[in-house]
Amino acid sequence: MRDHGGGGGHGAEHRHEAEHHHETEHHHGGEVSQTQLLTAALESLLVEKGLLSSDTIDQLVERYEKDIGPMIGARVVARAWTDPAYKQRLLSDSASALAELGIHMDNLVVVENTPAVHNAVVCTLCSCYPWAVLGLPPTWYKEPAYRSRMVIEPRAVLREFGLELDGTVEVRVWDSSAEQRYLVLPERPAGTEGMTEAELATLVSRDSMIGVARVAAPARAR
Ligand code: FE
Repeated sequence: MRDHGGGGGHGAEHRHEAEHHHETEHHHGGEVSQTQLLTAALESLLVEKGLLSSDTIDQLVERYEKDIGPMIGARVVARAWTDPAYKQRLLSDSASALAELGIHMDNLVVVENTPAVHNAVVCTLCSCYPWAVLGLPPTWYKEPAYRSRMVIEPRAVLREFGLELDGTVEVRVWDSSAEQRYLVLPERPAGTEGMTEAELATLVSRDSMIGVARVAAPARAR
């Protein structure tokens, strides 16, 4: 079922991707990566041929950033909230639990937030991110300030995101790599007892699955 196999397709690809962004990240000052160049070339070609307008492309990017990507992770979270057995499978063997929902990702570790433990995710080296469940990474995730400070002073960084944690809460910061990505399973907010799985999924934000926010209770919480 899984492609753990010695350096097979997936592993090799991820390492490749990692090498790439390590390289580009280390040459900041205005250089563009091969991917950026190819993307720009493809975009101008599609626009020139009248196949797509720039507006359409902007909308698509925005959809991947805000809707499609994170909605996949949100669906996983909502299932875990409503099905305790699923949650256990997700925490112990994420690859098969994700496959049950048609998501194929074999290097994801799901970490659960509780009243006592708060998890957050960073990539200190570059910008490794669970694309398959969260879509495109937010800009701040890739910025050196987040990447370095999140491991040194996570409580201060989280406070800047508007997340104030009680001193008794243990903060665990997970450093992503090409081999291992992380997804935070946020706490289910109070006042959501009567909600369906689909309704719950609409509450789950991207930031809550990176661990820089809580899931807000629904506006008309009971
Ligand atoms: Fe990375």
